[in-house]
Amino acid sequence: KAWNGAGGEDIQHAHSWGRYVPPALFAEHPEFFAVGKDGERRGGGWLCTSNPDLRKHFADRVSAAIAAGQRNPSLSPTDGTGYCQCPACKAQDDPNVVEPSTGLVSVSRRYADFFDAVARQVGAAHPRSILSFYCYADYTQPPAPGRRLAPNLCAFIAPIRYCRLHAIGDPRCPSRTQEVAMIEGWAALAGHIGYYNYMYNLADATLPFFKFSALKHDIPYLKARGLTALTMEVLTNWHIYGPHIYLGVRLAYDPAADAGAVMEDYWQKFYGPAAPHMKAYWMGLDEAVGRLPCHAGSFFGLAQVYTPEFIAECRGRLAKAAEAARADKTLAGRVALAADGLQNAADYRAMCEAMSRADFAGARAVYDRMIARIQALTAQGAANREYGTAYLERFIAKVLAAGQAAAAPPRRVLAVLPDAWRFAHDEDGQGLQRRWHEPDFDDSAWTRASTWQKPLDAQGLHKTGVLWYRARLDVPARQGRAALFFAEVDGWSEVYVNGRKAAAPAVERRSPLPPEREGQAPPRTPFEVDVADAVRTGPNVVAVRVDHAKITELFLGGIIRPVVLVEKPQ
Ligand SMILES: [Zn+2]
Ligand SMILES: [Zn+2]
Repeated sequence: KAWNGAGGEDIQHAHSWGRYVPPALFAEHPEFFAVGKDGERRGGGWLCTSNPDLRKHFADRVSAAIAAGQRNPSLSPTDGTGYCQCPACKAQDDPNVVEPSTGLVSVSRRYADFFDAVARQVGAAHPRSILSFYCYADYTQPPAPGRRLAPNLCAFIAPIRYCRLHAIGDPRCPSRTQEVAMIEGWAALAGHIGYYNYMYNLADATLPFFKFSALKHDIPYLKARGLTALTMEVLTNWHIYGPHIYLGVRLAYDPAADAGAVMEDYWQKFYGPAAPHMKAYWMGLDEAVGRLPCHAGSFFGLAQVYTPEFIAECRGRLAKAAEAARADKTLAGRVALAADGLQNAADYRAMCEAMSRADFAGARAVYDRMIARIQALTAQGAANREYGTAYLERFIAKVLAAGQAAAAPPRRVLAVLPDAWRFAHDEDGQGLQRRWHEPDFDDSAWTRASTWQKPLDAQGLHKTGVLWYRARLDVPARQGRAALFFAEVDGWSEVYVNGRKAAAPAVERRSPLPPEREGQAPPRTPFEVDVADAVRTGPNVVAVRVDHAKITELFLGGIIRPVVLVEKPQ
């Protein structure tokens, strides 16, 4: 506010219900609180928003917050999905509007009606305050067009479940194409639009990218639809996100600015004589990501850009830039910072390739060097203190540790299963009845799906539901017991070898498994199954059933890291 020179308004949009109606109020006003799935009201973070007295109380508390100095307080619901199940609240929902990311009936209409009632009451006393509410979770979709909402409301769109790589409305991107109807619908109802712009990839923050095309399109597009407030959620990893942090701030300040000219100025001033090569590097990233037919979040998705050829091309550009900047220590340091970012992509690829050879120790060595290198960047202030390495630590470290343990002597790796498996969607859940786990089942009509090399989304195969994989496995003669190690599967999985279900992996859990999960391995946790009694020397058939009905925000699904056959002592 002080430094951008524009002044501007601080518009609150955080989850806020608890501030106005604290759970402690339950003793006095249980009717203010949501009815849970069990039919009971309880004093948590969720409210019974159809209740007229609750509406009045809520609006009074919002007015009190404004009187106490909060100019534009938030109306956003509590995070989570504790929507009131009372008949009056449920009657407000439109059963014809479904939230596409969950398949559940949208609760947008009930909350739009609630926010509208609150905003009208608050607006009578405080007409200049802008009241925001998130369009989020199962209230992302706009309710069917009706009367316009109160003019002091701001629909704050937080597209957490949408593609983060492409521009809004990009015809090559189904996710961002779907987002157009959502934005236009809210823009038609609300006088103000807020937008939560995600400028990094979940379960990634490791691989460089530059959202030039997306920002250039999205900010003016949103402005034309009533954009009043913008939040950029970005991680301060300057080695991989520097230029788009800069461009995002400049366009937020002035959506009419020419994005190309803003960046031309940046390349010249930031990189001096290295500018043409650095521009080629960063714009090359934007172009490659734009072409990428993959919309899944995470390094699994974005890594598709970083082929060996593309890494070499980027290295060539950075080498020319380093040469041009050689005489100036500051400029050379800036080029070296980008080279550190690119090294992340090369390291990530090397790690995946080592895992694909079941060389988990080798992958671990790459990982350790990478973490140390990023920590050095953090020490210089160039990488985020937490998110320089947090996703690597959270998602990769456990896979490497389990892989190393699975392959450590006296154990021995007998085989790595192929990247490509036969693959089918089990649309009606009858796979077992159709004997899809049996070795003699004819799977020749099934498609082939890549596993660790490409997410399903990048192969046009991503769909929620039950997925089946089948592969042939030649097993050599051995002395010990055979086991299959799965480095990472997204979904609840069951493993069959020659038609026999492998014993459930032992997994430590905080709560007991629900009965339908008996004998299944939980999502995205490395696991091993003993297959000694089912496997035989020579050809075998491995079948894996993956329940991918409940999806994560990463939109992955299925087998996503290598599967390894190991021999362990008797
Ligand atoms: Zn209710
Ligand atoms: Zn996309």
